[in-house]
This record gives sequence, structure tokens and C-alpha cells, in this order.
Amino acid sequence: MKIPEKVSICEVGLRDGLQNEKVIPTTEQKLELLRGMIDAGYPVIEVGSFMHPKKVPQMADTDELFKRIGEIPEGVELRALIPNTRGVQRAIDCGCKKVKLNVSASRMHNLKNLNRTPEESVAGFADCVKMANENNIAISGSISMPFASPWEGRTPVEDVDAIIEAYLKVGINEISLSDASGQAVPNQVYELCKHVREKYPQASWWLHFHNTRGAAVANILAAMQAGMTRFDASFGGLGGCPFVPGAAGNVSTEDVINMLDEMGIETGVDVLKVMALSRKVSEILGHGLDSYVLRAGRSKDLIASQSE
Ligand code: ZN
Repeated sequence: MKIPEKVSICEVGLRDGLQNEKVIPTTEQKLELLRGMIDAGYPVIEVGSFMHPKKVPQMADTDELFKRIGEIPEGVELRALIPNTRGVQRAIDCGCKKVKLNVSASRMHNLKNLNRTPEESVAGFADCVKMANENNIAISGSISMPFASPWEGRTPVEDVDAIIEAYLKVGINEISLSDASGQAVPNQVYELCKHVREKYPQASWWLHFHNTRGAAVANILAAMQAGMTRFDASFGGLGGCPFVPGAAGNVSTEDVINMLDEMGIETGVDVLKVMALSRKVSEILGHGLDSYVLRAGRSKDLIASQSE
């Protein structure tokens, strides 16, 4: 089986995970979780978003988190989601060095809500790229629902290509494929990943899977088979998408890392520390989490517990 030696995990729990929660952790609690994530060894952490605080009140303190986190270790990247140039300005003001834009691959959804095609949306990001470049801020882009959407079913590959080309045209080469509605299946993931890697070798890729229908780790395996090595995950499987009905649950970080550990694939992330953070966030939020490994423990620990 073709598997990579090393995989990079981005922890998106503080953003995608908390975005849908009723109980909002305090800034202090978020800082503690963020420090714990840095200590657990994540190379990339999505801290929050610079959306309008009225639209996404859970993320209103993102600026403050960046201001208060202080020095971060070499090689750790903290990123935030932005909607427009106002987001870039907030990143500049609070010291955030990496931002991410997003567009939906659903033409119907885009036309209905924004009155423009996804490519037109991406072309409009040129100002963000210019501003980010001038201020030494790295910028990436994400495509939601490149596999399927609740409105149109399977997304045509040509539509995904058109959006990727629009991103490349405005100077964004780091692109995330985000199955926000949890509809992707492994053979489709394999084919699309293989296709985009071959057609756009100048781009670097992230994959973002929700476990809405239980296929997320299978999709990660399929993407790895196609040569992908960067994946988002959320501690405790926290999260959802506020715009997609029933789309709860990012793939759980500890489930992914336990699997990769057992497969001999290096992530640099300490799964026990991640599990401790998941327990902490479960306590803060006051409800259980959708994580297999948190319930069952690591498979590595089974033998140790039997000999006790
Ligand atoms: Zn998501």
C-alpha cells in the first residue's frame, strides 16, 4: 500500500469546532487550549476567523488570541479564516501571519447567495492577496464542497478546476479541498486528488473532511493513496458547518493520529496530549464528543492495561 512517511495535521477545533457551539469558551480557556495544542506538537493550528462578530460571535475574540499568545515556537503556523480585505487588516493589526479564504464550489449556492459564480468570488480575492503580500502575511484558499454539495449532488470536476485556476490566477497556490457537508466517498476522493495533483503540480494541497456519514478516515486514506499529506482535523471530532444542515462533526484528531501512529506514519503530534485537550473541551462545553479513540483509548494502551 502506498502510504506517506510523514503527514501534517492542522488542528481546526478552535475555529471549525467551536463555531457551532452554544457555549462559547472564554478567551482565557481558548488560550489554554491553544497553548496545549502548541505543546502537543501541531505544525499548523487554525485559531479562529475574522468574520463579522455579529455573524460568528464564537470567533469574536480571534484578534485577542493572536495578540495574547506571545512567541510561538519555530515551525508552528497559526492561521485564521478571512472573508475579505477587512479580514486581512485585522490579521495585520493583531499579528496573524497566515490567512485563509473560502469559496463554495456549488455554483447554484454561490449564484443564489452572492449573485456570482465561484470563480468570480475568487477573482474578487485579488485585493486580499495584494494586501497580504505587502504585509508579509501568507495566504491560502479553500474550496468547500468540491466533491458534492447538498444542493447539486456530485460536483463536476470541471467546476473544481475552474476554481483552482481562479485561485492560481490571483496568486494563491496553497489550496484546501473541504468536504464540509460530509458527502465525499473514497474512490471519488482518490480520483479528484490524483487529478488535481497531476494537473496543477505548482499547487500545494490540504484536505478537510467532516465525518458526517462516517467516511472521513476512509477518505483520508484514499487521499494519502493519491499522494496527499496535509489534513485538517478537530479535537474530539468537534464541529460542523453553520450553513449546511446536519453537517456536524469534523474528523476527530485523535482518531486520525491513532490510525496514523499505528500505520507508522509520523505526524509529530502527541495523541495523548490531544486526548487530554479533548476531555478538557468536553468539560468546558458540557457535552460528550464524537471521538472513537476518546471512548475506546489508544489501541497501543490495551496490552499495557491488561498486564496491570
Ligand atoms: Zn469544516
